[in-house]
Amino acid sequence: MALSGLSGKTVIITGAAGGIGSAAAKRLLDEGCKVVAVDLHADAIRRACGQVGSDRFLAMEADVSTEAGVAAYVEAAVARFGGVQLFLNNAGVLGRLTRIVDLPAADFDHVMTVNLRGVFLGLKAVLRRMVEQGEGGAIVNTSSKGALRPPANCAGYATSKAGIIILTEVAAQEHGRDNIRVNAICPGLTATPILPPSHAEHEAEVCARFPMPRFARPQEVAGLVAYLLSDEAGFQTGGVYPIDGGARLA
Ligand code: NAD
Repeated sequence: MALSGLSGKTVIITGAAGGIGSAAAKRLLDEGCKVVAVDLHADAIRRACGQVGSDRFLAMEADVSTEAGVAAYVEAAVARFGGVQLFLNNAGVLGRLTRIVDLPAADFDHVMTVNLRGVFLGLKAVLRRMVEQGEGGAIVNTSSKGALRPPANCAGYATSKAGIIILTEVAAQEHGRDNIRVNAICPGLTATPILPPSHAEHEAEVCARFPMPRFARPQEVAGLVAYLLSDEAGFQTGGVYPIDGGARLA
């Protein structure tokens, strides 16, 4: 059975050429949404999402860490589909995995710029548009298990993802009365291109101590996203939702 309140709505998805973003794009298209799929390269979006022919799909090349890029993807949603009701604020980078003492400041800055500034700019532009439209909305920000249980060698990434939880909680309070819900998801290790080869090639060892000793599938994360964006989650806002097979408890 389809989730309620998704069909016919327009969703912007950033990081849509990636594993989680493209799985969400496919799932939300299946649910009847119109999808504005945003990433750095339009060809990569089309390859990942495979929706070249659909009149409910737009591949949009934009850098989420710039105000111009964010304005362009919101304008594209308005021009093509008349507005935006749903948003998956999801683009992200991992950065270098190393101890703080060895982490170049430029690497830290880049991760914060894409992951935290990008999510902030996306929230700012999409919330403004949703408020103007006056018909409510739903937003999911992609944080990480790394924000809840930060591992060593992950200072930039985990800090940026913790900031996304704070942005989520602030935005939820600011826009509850506009009927705009804002939630965060915290995936554990998920089988997508973001994983470094040291992880991707050693799933069994990397996950051995987890209650469910495997990576998440991007489709499983997309299922949580679809639920949180749907009317089934109509009273859920400001929430932080792990999807990690219990890994944060290990
Ligand atoms: P991915 O690398 O497959 O996708 C990330 C996408 O973001 C890429 O397509 C990349 O091109 C895009 N991107 C990066 N910088 C951008 C920019 N400046 N502008 C526009 N797009 C940009 O990885 P994924 O696993 O699908 O990641 C999606 C989100 O999930 C990320 O925020 C990531 O941090 C988060 N996450 C992933 C995991 C995991 O293990 N895969 C775990 C927790 C959280």
